[in-house]
Parts: sequence; structure tokens; C-alpha cells
Amino acid sequence: MARKGRHDAIIVGAGPGGITCGALLAKKGLNVLVLDKNPGVGGKQMPVSIKGYRGEFWPTGGLPVTGGAWLEAFKTLGIESKFRVSIKDIGNFYRRSGGKWQFTVTQMDPYVLPDPNILFDQWGLESAEREFALQVLADIAMMPPDKIGALDNSTVHEYLQQFEAVPGAFYGYFAFLAHAFNVGVVDLVPMSEVVRAFQRLMGQPLGYPMGGYGRMSEDIAGVLRDCGGEIKTRTRVERIIVEDGRAAGVMTRDAIYRAPIVVSNAGIQPTVLKLVGEDHFDKSYAAHVKSLLPSNGFTGCHYTLSEPVLKHGLYQVWSDDAWWNLDRQDDVKRGRMPADVVITVVVPTNYDPSMGPPGKQLVLFGTPCSADPADKSIEALWKKTDRQMAELFPEMVPAIESKGPYSGPAQVAALSRDQVLPGQGGEACGVGVTIGQCGKDKPAARSPIPGLFYVGFDAGSTAFMGSQQAVDSALKVAPQAYRYHLEKRQEAGF
Ligand SMILES: Cc1cc2nc3c(=O)[nH]c(=O)nc-3n(C[C@H](O)[C@H](O)[C@H](O)COP(=O)(O)OP(=O)(O)OC[C@H]3O[C@@H](n4cnc5c(N)ncnc54)[C@H](O)[C@@H]3O)c2cc1C
Repeated sequence: MARKGRHDAIIVGAGPGGITCGALLAKKGLNVLVLDKNPGVGGKQMPVSIKGYRGEFWPTGGLPVTGGAWLEAFKTLGIESKFRVSIKDIGNFYRRSGGKWQFTVTQMDPYVLPDPNILFDQWGLESAEREFALQVLADIAMMPPDKIGALDNSTVHEYLQQFEAVPGAFYGYFAFLAHAFNVGVVDLVPMSEVVRAFQRLMGQPLGYPMGGYGRMSEDIAGVLRDCGGEIKTRTRVERIIVEDGRAAGVMTRDAIYRAPIVVSNAGIQPTVLKLVGEDHFDKSYAAHVKSLLPSNGFTGCHYTLSEPVLKHGLYQVWSDDAWWNLDRQDDVKRGRMPADVVITVVVPTNYDPSMGPPGKQLVLFGTPCSADPADKSIEALWKKTDRQMAELFPEMVPAIESKGPYSGPAQVAALSRDQVLPGQGGEACGVGVTIGQCGKDKPAARSPIPGLFYVGFDAGSTAFMGSQQAVDSALKVAPQAYRYHLEKRQEAGF
């Protein structure tokens, strides 16, 4: 086996968390090597080119424009001028059980706060219900950190149950937020996560990065290379080497790379249970890692249209029947499809027309599903989502030039983490979105093995939605790894 040179730090995985952590360490002067099994950087948001369009494999949107981890990372890495975001209004579809779809538009204006009455009108709230809804939203907006922390142990459902009468649509909205913010269900996601995400997003427009999400990871990879770091794609790490109880490097199919710091972006469960091996950990730690539940998955499809039919950048679709709790989730697994499903639609070509051929449109959409790559209900969800899209956007149907590829947990797992436990691997975000596993209980980024860190959605950060959380984790993990580097240098007498 070829022995390759020694590095200061090796990053396993170039997802948003891994590549950002690598660039931050390289900018601090460390000699960094990043290894990823995929052909490019960006992890689940790796840029893809399909039928002449550029974008992601699945609908990815909602980038906070004036604050957030991506912007902070770009600033810290000195590439703020490359943080180019396009802003478009958001369309909202909602209907009561058996009713007609109601459509409203949320204006994404950096200077104007969205008016909640637009949604209250859509939901048909009476005046007393509006007062109640406004009061709850105001409480959430103003909630101090200690009160938020106390909600780490209450689910969204439990939080809403404390009130005598919660309007159905208002409850459904929070169930929908548990999907949207955490890709979880209302009776598992803690209320603290929803409040933290709500506060972080409040008062700033949401947009989509020019060139797509993957472009942001590529910009960050550029910094890493400029600082002397190296990225090897199509290179799967088979093992993380532990010697004398410390991280010592990694092994690929044909080479060994040595470094005293290994930061894994491959998911905490694959890292502990497969890449390192649970024998290297205390039994209770390995048991804790096994107990971490995945977020839900997400399944959907690409449409290409012969002309631009959809007007907005992002659409959110939900109804009284669409949001999931554990019972509804089980119903789908047993083949009982609900009347509606939650759908997120992103139209990258509306945000950045250069992402497709002139005059045409790319539409990405999908719905939450289980994280199990072998889930048999995925195909039924594709069909249901297709039918609902035709019902919501009848004017789009004659313009559809192509449908597909369809994707789901199996495709997500292939692009990101290895399945090491039954029912997991295809999670849209990662682990740690469930009560008792996030907030103060989120897995720490520093593993029990000196020199081994985790980065990405699974560890080190909390409540910041998808890739925001992964990048936020990098912003927190890189300083810890850097401190460890300094300690080791001091020990070695440099
Ligand atoms: C359908 C869908 C929609 C989403 N929508 C949004 C959205 O709108 N907004 C948002 O912010 N987020 C969204 N997300 C979530 C977001 O993509 C993830 O939270 C984010 O990508 C997690 O980043 P990460 O750094 O933790 O790792 P990942 O993106 O999971 O990347 C991990 C990387 O590690 C590599 N790797 C794993 N094992 C190995 C190994 N053994 N050797 C070498 N390399 C390895 C993988 O190849 C991969 O590149 C969505 C996800 C999905 C699936």
C-alpha cells in the first residue's frame, strides 16, 4: 500500500461542512487534504448538469441573505464578494381538508417584514384565533435563550398542546415547519429547534445562490486550494486509522495518508461504526451513537419546461391532510396515501436564468419521506407528488418537456453517507433532529478519540436548517481542530 505524505489535517468528505472546515484550517496555515468519494465537492448539494440545465439533484432553497452560516463562512474566508444571492417572492399553497387550494405570495423584501395576516387570511382564521396566533408568534420571536433551552425537552406537539384551543391550520403550520426546518415530524422535533430556526430566519429575505448551492462549496474549495490545500475526489476513505488511542490518518483502497487530525464529514454513525470501528470506543458511547435517529428523507423529481410557466422562485405547499406525525408517516409506509402531501418546489432558472437554456425553465420539487434507502413507499410518493403538481400548476402540464430523474433516500445515500444501521442512510439533513438529540443534547464535534472530530449536520451545531447547520458546524469545529493542532505542536516542542 502506497504511503503518501504527512498532512496536518485530513478531512473525510467535501460536503458543505467538510469543505468549509478544510478551507478554514488551510487559511490558518495547516497543510490540509480533503478526500471525497464523489466526483465533485458539495456533498448532497453537489452541482449537477442534467439535460443542459445546471442545479442540484433535488429542491434546495431558502438561503438566508443577510445573515447565516454560509455568509459568515464567506466573510471569514475573505470571499464575501462571491456571496451572490438572487431573491424572489415565495408562493404558498394551503387548503383545508377537502377544500380548494388557496394561494398567497410572501414578498421577499429586505426592508419589509412579511405580514402574517396574509397567511391568517389564507388559513381562514377568525379574529380570536388571529389574536391567539399573533401572541404565540410574538412569544416565539421574543423568547430568551434560557426559555428556548428549556424547550429542548418538549416536542412541537407538546408545546402546542399546552394551549386550550389551537386552530387546526395553526397547528398544521408548525407541523409543516418541523418538516421545513428539521425534516422531522411534529411529535419528535423539539420546539426549541423550531424557535431557534424561526428567530435566525426572522427579518431577513430568503434566496438562492447564483449558480446554485454547489457553486458555494466550489468557491470555498477554491480558497482551500489557494491556501495550499489539496482535494482528491473519487477517493473513498475505507478506514480512519487510530494508533495509541489517537487519530493517525486514513486508509483508501490503495494508499495511506497520515495526519494527527482527522475531521470526518461522513456522518457520525458511519464514522464511529464503520470507518473507525466501535471497538475503539467506550460501549456506552457506541450505544449512544447507534441511538441517534435520522431526519426524514426527501423524494422528488426534475421537470424541464419548454417555457417559463412558474413565476416565483420557491413554492411551499401544505394542507390539513399533508403534514406528517408518526401515525401519518406509518400510514404511508403501510400504503395508505394521504389526500395531499407537503411539497417544496424550487425554480433555479427563475433565480438565475443562466442555469438553463434561454426561455426554458427547470423545476425541482419533492416531498418528505423516510430516510430508508430501501423504503418501498417512495415510488407511490413520486406518483402522488406528480399528480398533485399537475393539480396545483395545470398550466405547467402542456409545457413539460422532460420528467426525471426521480430521486429519494437511495440516491441521497449514494451521494452522501453509507448506511450502517437499518432504516438509515438517506436522511435529507443528518441525525440529531429529534427530542433528546439536539440543542444541548446534539452530539459534540470532538470525539472521545483525541484528534478525531466530526463536522457537518450531525455534530457541533444546532437548529439552523440543512446546509446552514453543516456550515455552522464547520465554523465551530475548525477552531477546535486548530487548537488541538497548536496543543500538539507545543507538546512536540515547536
Ligand atoms: C432533497 C434534499 C433537499 C434539501 N434541501 C435543502 C435546502 O433547501 N436548504 C439547505 O440548506 N439544505 C438542504 N438540504 C440538506 C443539505 O443538503 C444537508 O444538510 C447538507 O448537505 C449536509 O452537509 P454535510 O456537510 O453534513 O454533509 P453531506 O452533504 O452529507 O456530505 C458528506 C460528504 O462526505 C462524503 N463521504 C461520505 N463518506 C465518505 C467516505 N467514506 N470517503 C470519502 N468521502 C465520503 C460524501 O461523498 C459527501 O460528499 C437538502 C437535502 C436533501 C437531500
